[in-house]
Order: sequence, then structure tokens, then C-alpha cells
Amino acid sequence: MTGAGTRRAFIVTFGCQMNEYDSGRLGELLAARGWQSAATREEADFIFFNTCSVRARAARRVLNHLEEVRALKRRKPSLIVAVGGCVAEQEGQALLDRTPWLDLVAGPQQVPLLPDLLEEMRATRGGFRRALTGPGRQPAWSRANLESLSKRGSDLKAPRAATLTAGLTIMQGCDNYCAYCVVPYLRGPELSRPAGEILEEAAALVAGGARDITLLGQNVNAYGRGLAGAPGFPELLKAVADLGVERLRFVTSHPKDFSPELIELYARLPALGDSLHLPVQSGSEAVLKAMRRGYSREQYLTLVRALRRARPALALSTDVIVGFPGETEADFEATLDLVETVNFDAMFSFKYSDRPGVASAGFPDKIPEEEKASRLARLQARQKAISLDRNKAHIGQVLEVLVERSGRRPGQVTGRARNFKLVHFDGSPELIGRLVPVLIAAAGPASLRGQAQDPRPVG
Ligand code: SF4
Repeated sequence: MTGAGTRRAFIVTFGCQMNEYDSGRLGELLAARGWQSAATREEADFIFFNTCSVRARAARRVLNHLEEVRALKRRKPSLIVAVGGCVAEQEGQALLDRTPWLDLVAGPQQVPLLPDLLEEMRATRGGFRRALTGPGRQPAWSRANLESLSKRGSDLKAPRAATLTAGLTIMQGCDNYCAYCVVPYLRGPELSRPAGEILEEAAALVAGGARDITLLGQNVNAYGRGLAGAPGFPELLKAVADLGVERLRFVTSHPKDFSPELIELYARLPALGDSLHLPVQSGSEAVLKAMRRGYSREQYLTLVRALRRARPALALSTDVIVGFPGETEADFEATLDLVETVNFDAMFSFKYSDRPGVASAGFPDKIPEEEKASRLARLQARQKAISLDRNKAHIGQVLEVLVERSGRRPGQVTGRARNFKLVHFDGSPELIGRLVPVLIAAAGPASLRGQAQDPRPVG
């Protein structure tokens, strides 16, 4: 039974891990003020859509969701509906103007402000509609930014929830301006959080039971650029590992900012996981240049070779865009060739779509939709076969699995190996949170199956 004073929030997250981090932190700040999470939209007093506009399809989905809450708002006028994230930043006041049932639009930098705004809105009982956008001068979750945004210092101490795996934002924004990408326009310039704050947050996560931490940012390996006295990214990684993190990962790193010191860490920092997401986007020299990625095909391949020398077990994943303006069949085949050469373990691949305001929206020689779809299908089919081969190579090996949750069927649990591969095996939910050696018996393109090797888990 819900008490009269109970307030419930329903947070819907789209897009990247940074949005997931923002949603998680917002949930924690709301919990510190007595909010509970709603199981459904119907029982919510506040609905927050944390949006992504990197791809046109993701942006459209948000508008569909907004349409769906229209009737809900009519039935329950006290419901507060807010849109955050990149669609909020991109559309701002215009989104508020054309969505009368929407109360609040808040760009990514403004998310920490929401707990205060909600209190004001509830106090004023409607009549409070606002669009807040624009880049901050501090990373959204830095203490300085929170202090200037929040009227209640107590919120700053809101503890990070204890979870087994956790993301930790270390920087935000991007200065790269790849020709197709809206991120620099929406997330602003690169801003790094002070190392002291990051280490404090990481220490709290470890103390709370986190065994796997992912450092997050649009361009993590540019960490520290422009922040006086900041350590470089490799030093930051070492300092976080020294706190006792068992598995440390980061996303997203840019190939052009991968320093020799960072490569070397894969040889001598065991806490760094055996997985790396390294977006390539295209295997064609001409397309990489038109995309303004800042590296050549050969530089990318050289980097991959150096990384595999440093950490032979490294599992690599990547992002690829097909059908970039001007991409010829030969360019596309160069991408297929690169995919074969690198032998990626996994890939996220997308059809190119124009995003508002980006350089490539004005490029000539757009590729017809059917051609993009056909190239995407060919690429994905090829990658699926490669992923299957890579996964089958683990059959007969014993992998150390960090058990994260119950599996899809009763009596099964699911976790991740050090190379981030999903592993299912028979076991009880008591294993959640433990490191278990698992003998791999079968493989599909997206996951592995095996048997626990030791009735007593190793951790
Ligand atoms: S590096 Fe390029 S693709 Fe990545 S966020 Fe920055 S501009 Fe976008």
C-alpha cells in the first residue's frame, strides 16, 4: 500500500552508458530526498525520459514514448513529465512548445538540478514549465557543479548504491567533431572531473561491493586534457586499480588518443579487463578521412597489433557506420576486409543517418536506404560468423566468471568473463557476486555456456 506522502519516480533510459550513469545518479539523488522508484508509469508521480539523439531512430522512439504518456498526464495532472539527455539539449524550448503535456526539458548538464526543480514544481502545483539546456563549465557530476546547482548540500553526500558492477563518469563532452556526430554540439567540450573526486567515488564503490568498474566518458583517453594538475589517463587507471578494483574497463576510447603508455598498461596492469571497445567506424581510408576520424586504416591496424602484443587474450569490439555519404562498394569492401583482418569479437553497426547540424549532413553522394540496408546486412552476417568462431575458440577453456544475475531459466546464472563475454551456466542465485571458474562447453555468436568447475567459488 502506498502512503499518502510517497512520491514515485519512473526513469526510462535510452542510449549510451553515460546516460545510464546519469539516470542512476539521478535515482540516487531522488532516493536521498525520499523518492521511491515506480514499477510502472501508471504509478509514477515523475516520469523522466533520458534520451539519445545520436541516431535518428533513437530520437524518434523518444517522441513515441512521449505520445504514450499524453493520456496518463490527462488522467493525472499532478504527474511531472520530463525529457533529459541529448534530445532535450537539441530541441530545448521547441520540444516544450510543441508538447503541451511535457513539464520540463533538461539537457545532460542539468540532470543534477532535477531534484530541486521537482520540489519547486510540486510546491507550485503546475504552472512551472521550463527548458534548461546549454553546456556547463564543470562536468555535470563534479562537486563544483553540484554545489552551484543544488540548494541542499546534503544531496551531495548521497551514497552511490552498492552494486557489483558500476559505471563511473570521469569526463564528458568531446572536442573531436567527427563529421557525422552530434555529441560535441550536445554534450559540449571535453571536461574532466578532478581525479580526487573520481578516486573518492571509486573507493566508495569498492567499499560498497563493486568488483567491476567501467570508467565512462565520450573520449576517456583524452582524460585530463585542459584540467590543470590532472594525471594522464594511464595514471588515473593505475590509481583506480590500486583501490582494489578487480576488473577495470573504460568506454569510449578514441584510437587517435591511444598513447604508448596506455597500450603498455595492458601488459602490466592485471586489473585491466581482457576486453576493449575501440570504435573504427570504417575500414576505408577515404571514408575515415571524410569522417574526420583523425587516424588512418593502417594506424588503426598498427594499434590493434600493439594491443594484442601487450595482451594476447584481448577481446576487441568496435562500432561501424555503413553508407556514409560517398561510400563506394570498394570502400565498403575495405571495411569488410578490415573486419576480417582484426577479427573483432563483437560489433555495433549502424546505417548512416543525417543528424541536424553535423558536417556530413551537407555532404553530397548520399547512399540510398536500400543500399545501406543491404551493406549493413552483409556486414552483420560476416561479423556474426566471426563472433561465433571467436567464441567457439573458448570451448574447453576455463574462464573466470563474475556472476551478475539469475539466468533466463530456473537453476541457471549469468555472468561475464574477464573478456566481457556473457557466460551462462547452471548454478544457484547464491553465486551472484562471486567469481566462479567455468569450463566452456558451447558457444553462440553472443554468449557462451559452460559448467562451474569448483563447487566452492573462487571469490
Ligand atoms: S570522438 Fe567523434 S564519434 Fe566520438 S563522441 Fe567525439 S565526435 Fe562523436
